[in-house]
Amino acid sequence: MERKTIRIGHLFPELLNMYGDKGNILALKNRLVWRGIDAEVVTFGIEDEIDFSTLDIVLLGGGADREQEMVCKQLMSMKQALSNYIEDGGVMLALCGSYPMLGKTFQLQNETVSGLGILEIETEKTEKRHIGDCIVQTDITGSELLLVGFENHGGKTRIGELKPLGTVRHGFGNNGEDGSCGVIYKNLIGTYLHGPLLPKNPALTDYLLSCALKRKYGEDIALMPLADRAEEEAHDYIVKRFIKE
Ligand code: GLN
Repeated sequence: MERKTIRIGHLFPELLNMYGDKGNILALKNRLVWRGIDAEVVTFGIEDEIDFSTLDIVLLGGGADREQEMVCKQLMSMKQALSNYIEDGGVMLALCGSYPMLGKTFQLQNETVSGLGILEIETEKTEKRHIGDCIVQTDITGSELLLVGFENHGGKTRIGELKPLGTVRHGFGNNGEDGSCGVIYKNLIGTYLHGPLLPKNPALTDYLLSCALKRKYGEDIALMPLADRAEEEAHDYIVKRFIKE
């Protein structure tokens, strides 16, 4: 049988690397390798040229305002290629600082700046930063599940008519007002959750991997269940701490 390979593009980790975002890459890679699927991680620096057509998953991590500004400028120069990748069903995870950048406008310090405009979302400054553990209920994998993560952002995002990643059960999410968290558009997920997000939420990681495999190989590829004891303990610890039922 032909060996399958997934190519993961990690964009600008020297600038976007908050709250262990590299752990997301390790979770994606290891969960493939543990199932006998090859994983190739390609790290891109800010000056590197990126051919999105060679990638199956793209990860953009969180970053401070200064780094966001540099990254956004650079992404502007490849906006069309990135948009084509997303429209074509390319899998992408944009975390925290990278998430508002995909929208029409966002704010840096006290200045409103143009984002990539790939998503119809808008971000403005919060009065007080939104910081803390966040728990989100989602059905994107086909069954109801809780995602856990950590948020620390000074932006509140409105996603208009777009579908949220899920509903906030604890914490702030997109804006602390409408109960939505993140956004899902085709195979792109944007969210303020990190900490890192994927190791603690294996079901979400597997969802992204399944989407990437389906896009690349044109069929549903069953992912063998893994012994997720440590992952489940980390996940459940946060759920039990904040949700009493
Ligand atoms: N720089 C952004 C903010 O402070 C995002 C920070 C982050 O990625 N956690 O809101």
